Order: sequence, then C-alpha cells, then structure tokens
Amino acid sequence: MLCPVCKTRKCNAVRLDENLEALRCASCGGHWISRPHYSAWLKGHGDPLPEKPLSAVQLDVQDIVAAKLCPGCRKILLKFRVGHGLDFSLDRCPGCGGVWFDRNEWEALRQKNLHDEIHRIFCTDWQRQVRREEMAAQLDRLYGNRLGMECYERAKEIREWLRGQPQRQAILAFLADDDPYAV
Ligand SMILES: [Zn+2]
Ligand SMILES: [Zn+2]
Repeated sequence: MLCPVCKTRKCNAVRLDENLEALRCASCGGHWISRPHYSAWLKGHGDPLPEKPLSAVQLDVQDIVAAKLCPGCRKILLKFRVGHGLDFSLDRCPGCGGVWFDRNEWEALRQKNLHDEIHRIFCTDWQRQVRREEMAAQLDRLYGNRLGMECYERAKEIREWLRGQPQRQAILAFLADDDPYAV
C-alpha cells in the first residue's frame, strides 16, 4: 500500500497494540488502520478506558490538512475533528472505513485513552459535541478580547460564585440597579 501523504512510499506492516495490525509509512510516520483490523481489535479490547486529562498528552502532532485519497479504494478521505482538547482531524474513507493517522495522531489518542473510541469520533453526536466545544472556545476568546483578560477572569469568578447563591436573582437585580437605595 502506498502512503496517502507521501504517495510514492510503501507502508510497512506494524503492530500498534496487541492484536492491532496497521501499516506505517517510514517517511512521514503516519499510520493506516483498516476497519476490519480495528473492529477485531476493539472486540477483544473490553470496555473503553477512562479518558485522561489533556495534560497527559505530550506529543507534537503533525496534522496534514491537504486532501488525501484512500490507499485502498481511492475515494477522498473525509476529515473528522477529534475535539476533547486535541486540535487535529482524522481522515476516514467513506468507502471502506479505513482511517489514516498523521504522525503522532494515533499516539496522542492513545495517551488520552481515546484510541478505543475512534469509531465514535465519526458519529453525529461526537461531531455535534466537537462543534459545541469549538463554538464555546470561540466565544471565550471573544469575551476575553471584549472585556480584557483581567476583567473577564474576574467576571468568570463572580459568575461561578453567583451560580451557587440561592438569592441569585436578587443579587443580580441589586447589581444592575444604578441606585438600589433610592426610595
Ligand atoms: Zn508517508
Ligand atoms: Zn477506502
């Protein structure tokens, strides 16, 4: 099989985990996992491992954004954002279900214990959640710019404190009133 990134380099068979066969390009360091191989490995893997925090991931991922063709059926691979703090996309073939991982993408997913949930990344629910996360991050940057970071951080602290107050509405009315002592 030829590497979908380097195009002329042949990939070699490797073992990514016990009972998980893949193909690896020695030149760019990417991996290809076919759907039958992943499904068979997943069946013997048991329950999904608990997701680890982002701080556990210490890899330089090289997400290659250029379009790639499936090395098997030549269809254009579709991109799926991973989310959960991992800022890269996986390339999946809509024909045969094989997945291409650019250099260190598989390793990053593995460090975060998401390597046993890759099949879920391509589902509508997962992608909806990724869009929600990305929208929230965008709004976070927007508020930071508008209010200034120091003010925004303070406002977030107050907001968090307010959430736990049973008299929340009364406090908000008091704050919003220009002169709460006027009679
Ligand atoms: Zn390559
Ligand atoms: Zn394919």
